[in-house]
Amino acid sequence: MPLIDTHSHIDNSCFDLDRAKVMERAKTAGVTRQIMPAIQSKWWSRLKACCDSDCSLFPAYGLHPLYISQHQANDLLALETWLESEPAIAVGECGLDFYNVKFDQEKQHFYFEAQLGLAQQFELPVIIHARRSVEDVIHMLKNNRGLHGVLHSYSGSYEQAVKLIDLGFMLGFGGPVTSPHAKRLQRIIKRLPLDAIVLETDSPDQPDFNHLKERNEPAYLFDIALSISNLIGIEASKLATATSNNAEQLFNLPSIE
Ligand SMILES: [Zn+2]
Repeated sequence: MPLIDTHSHIDNSCFDLDRAKVMERAKTAGVTRQIMPAIQSKWWSRLKACCDSDCSLFPAYGLHPLYISQHQANDLLALETWLESEPAIAVGECGLDFYNVKFDQEKQHFYFEAQLGLAQQFELPVIIHARRSVEDVIHMLKNNRGLHGVLHSYSGSYEQAVKLIDLGFMLGFGGPVTSPHAKRLQRIIKRLPLDAIVLETDSPDQPDFNHLKERNEPAYLFDIALSISNLIGIEASKLATATSNNAEQLFNLPSIE
């Protein structure tokens, strides 16, 4: 059952001691490829080195909204320069996180807008992090038409999902939807068209219900796929094929046979 993890951070130092084993387990579990979004400019070269070490890892470069206090204006220029010379599968992850009111929302808007501009400039998809901010993200995407990409770990409403799909975006689902407490999210995913869904682990964060409190890893995407296929009532292999095709199309990945 070939799967694509559309959101993995296994360049994170918490995998330094056993990354090769984590990769091996991922491949054994059927995870053929992983999309690896960036967090901060100082880690882009670490991310590049990690992706260079295995042809199933594809880097995206960007500035994560949760680290907004650490980004500096010249990081945006650095991102443009980096994208001119380094192969990238997408721009990201970028976006808006309003979970903590202390995060500077105005600064987040500025960096997100700039990265949407870079996605347009380099004709790349965009990987969006949106927590308690989906309405603002929709508004900004309406002002930046013609983009495509994914809202990772989708947590908005069904109506917002429909608007995002109309704007050319897919929705990423992973660990959170596997919780028995996630009734609202489960109702939403059941109503969504299969061609708008991609799967993700968000390793090392957001483990699925079978691995709560563990360090999450891409191999657990298998459990996520089983859980979601049960939820929406289709064969796991059908979900795997559909979501892998979606990810291939979204990120313009070479298909592997
Ligand atoms: Zn992430």
